[in-house]
Amino acid sequence: MIWKAGAHGPPNLNRFYFGAEYNRLFSLLARLDGRLGGQVRITAWHRNPAENRAAGGERFSQHLLGTAIDFTLGTPPGSLLLQPQLFAAVVPLARERGLAAVKSGSGAVHLQALPFGTAERLLGFAPWLSG
Ligand SMILES: [Zn+2]
Repeated sequence: MIWKAGAHGPPNLNRFYFGAEYNRLFSLLARLDGRLGGQVRITAWHRNPAENRAAGGERFSQHLLGTAIDFTLGTPPGSLLLQPQLFAAVVPLARERGLAAVKSGSGAVHLQALPFGTAERLLGFAPWLSG
């Protein structure tokens, strides 16, 4: 597993609340990483509100909770798989685990553990969950 500089995990409070979600995300990443020679590269996991704005993230992005991870394969410019191929490989693995996968504008695959719209509802009454 490779980490892009600046990518980081969530604060301890979020690890407490969303531990099951993190396990589902990382079980998929670990399986891919094992199959692909350790070339899974995490480009974003948790983002605080300032980091999310700087990244152009959605206002209620699951990156604020840490329940979304963006990743590519390999370190650019030598990426092993282009986004469409990586996405096609990930979708069935994501479905098995109740995760949603979407293509990110940055060329990564965005994987999230909670249903769409959940971050907006959670952050509406618990804004401190954004770290
Ligand atoms: Zn994302």
